Amino acid sequence: MTDLHPFIAGLPKAELHVHHVGSASPRIVAELAARHPDSKVPTDPEALVDYFTFTDFAHFIEVYLSVVDLIRTPEDVRLLTYEVARDMARQNIRYAELTVTPFSSTRRGIDEKAFMAAIEDARLAAESELGVILRWCFDIPGEAGLEAAEETARLAVDLRPEGLVSFGLGGPEIGVPRPQFKPYFDRAIAAGLHSVPHAGETTGPRTVWDALTELRAERIGHGTSSVQDPELLAYLAEHRIALEVCPTSNIATRAVVDIDAHPVKKMVAAGVLVTINSDDPPMFGTDLNNEYEVAARLLELDERGVADLAKNAVEASFLDAAGKARIADEIDRYTAEWLRR
Ligand SMILES: [Zn+2]
Repeated sequence: MTDLHPFIAGLPKAELHVHHVGSASPRIVAELAARHPDSKVPTDPEALVDYFTFTDFAHFIEVYLSVVDLIRTPEDVRLLTYEVARDMARQNIRYAELTVTPFSSTRRGIDEKAFMAAIEDARLAAESELGVILRWCFDIPGEAGLEAAEETARLAVDLRPEGLVSFGLGGPEIGVPRPQFKPYFDRAIAAGLHSVPHAGETTGPRTVWDALTELRAERIGHGTSSVQDPELLAYLAEHRIALEVCPTSNIATRAVVDIDAHPVKKMVAAGVLVTINSDDPPMFGTDLNNEYEVAARLLELDERGVADLAKNAVEASFLDAAGKARIADEIDRYTAEWLRR
């Protein structure tokens, strides 16, 4: 099999499932830690690589929260956002819908208007200086319950920043049933936002059905367990509801026990629109390019197959038609040129 690494690295890509704080690389965390010397997070990027080596899921949560603790001012928010876009530009990511959890910042005392201004300022700079188009998905941290849902819906609808396109729901699924969030999704949808909850990552296909029927999901975050229900797969395929598949994350969280047993092949075989994403890339020791390599191996793809996968993400994105056409065209031209060499 040919080495797809150089092809994938240069391929223009779109990413639909990637978390804001979860994208903080050791380089970014070192910068943030240097701004807040009282934090226990190391400031040396090399020490941070060890710090980011997780022993188990509880350790992952601990590290994640220590990074959350470094984001204390609007300047921290701006720095994180812009530097995440810089890491994306290096991977030739042209467009990303970044999942932002404003509740974690406003609850910690960051002024809500200053928070919005910080992400928007970073978004505009990332587009003009780095060529990376960013859009936001504001998500409810499910573990924080209905108070967080209310606050997130209010921030999304009342303070709606220009880059906001969708409304999401993350956090644990066990013990956090999706239907209770229906009123908040209804409000966000009425305001013109798209619905993109996480579902079926750590629970069964019932949760995905709930996300579809109660939360009117237009894409599903993970949806790993959908493969247990052929009727659900058929529904997703028929309605072109994309799954945001994050292979390495699924292993790290044990949503899937063995990468070779990853259900992505079954999803594709059922005709479901599959997109490849990195979720919390540095925290899972990955990046989007690596996720494409993993997917290419699992799906036995050549360059054309990988390019089609990249175009799935463009199709399933909430970018306007002209923007979608431009990136899809870039993918086609890059691939044609690569195969001519
Ligand atoms: Zn996620």
